[in-house]
Amino acid sequence: MRGFGFTEHGGLERLGFVDVPEPVPGPGEVRVALRAAAFNRLDRFVLAGIPGVPVERPHVLGSDGAGVVDRVGPGVTEVAEGTPVLLNPGMWDGTCDACARHDEALCRNYRIVGEHTQGTAAPSVVVPARNVHPKPARLGFVEAAAAPLVYETAWRALVTVAAVRPGETVAVIGAGGGTTIAALQVARARGARVVVVTRSAPKAERALALGAEAALVTDDDHPHDRLLWEWSGRKGVEVVFDSVGRSTLPRSVKALARGGRVVVIGATSGPIAEIDLRTLFWRQASIRGSTMASKAEFLEVLGELARGSLVPVVDSVHDLDNAVAAFERFESADRFGKVVLQIPAL
Ligand SMILES: [Zn+2]
Repeated sequence: MRGFGFTEHGGLERLGFVDVPEPVPGPGEVRVALRAAAFNRLDRFVLAGIPGVPVERPHVLGSDGAGVVDRVGPGVTEVAEGTPVLLNPGMWDGTCDACARHDEALCRNYRIVGEHTQGTAAPSVVVPARNVHPKPARLGFVEAAAAPLVYETAWRALVTVAAVRPGETVAVIGAGGGTTIAALQVARARGARVVVVTRSAPKAERALALGAEAALVTDDDHPHDRLLWEWSGRKGVEVVFDSVGRSTLPRSVKALARGGRVVVIGATSGPIAEIDLRTLFWRQASIRGSTMASKAEFLEVLGELARGSLVPVVDSVHDLDNAVAAFERFESADRFGKVVLQIPAL
């Protein structure tokens, strides 16, 4: 089977097509004939190599996917062959104390499709049967593949971890990436007021069209904490959704209102940041981390997708054969939304 990924860790020059065995579902697993797959920032980290996470090589990238179940393993009764599905990319062991509390995102053996296993940028993938869900009818395969990872990440971060309440202000740092767009939509769906901060005027316009109340264009002379401070009437914002890290987090903390929360879901600009701790205790603010989601949170996202209150934003769709160019598009500065691979039916 020919998939898109890499044989050696490194930069984008390592990307290409690899040959891997066609997967066979074991007990409790299903095989999905993929019709679409979507890229995430995670793919770049897997390509580079994540300390402590050995990957099978050659390695197929891709955590998000949608397709049709074409083979079920022994003992699988909950899903039938021929069912159109989307994947929950987060896998849990079902046996640890976190799983017993139904907070699978904290599982001691949490794994992610395409990181710890072969991914979705290929004609088929094998996952546990509990990781496939019937595709909401309103979504095509492309939209279904664009949805899971970013929405579940934004949902847990904002709804569970930051506990956003209706009427609160949520500042989303960045516009155009999958998780920032998802965060905008999740915050809106929960009745929050959303302000987006971006360095791009065109992306600010797009954020407004998606329901942001304001979109502030920041640059070195107009740091985002000052823009947010003025925008909020010098009260600060209740929640900041920050996936940028080193270059933004110190100022994101300064933008908080009393009792405010920064939720960190990534660190694309670097993992080490310097925080003025006085801001934290004076304002009784907090910095929380979040990643992926529990099964219940994933099901809530599926419900919102089925109702149409979360609508995946797709930047571009590419044939699997053009995956290298698709990944270049994923890396481009003017991308707005998900980059999706279309995979022909076998
Ligand atoms: Zn567990």
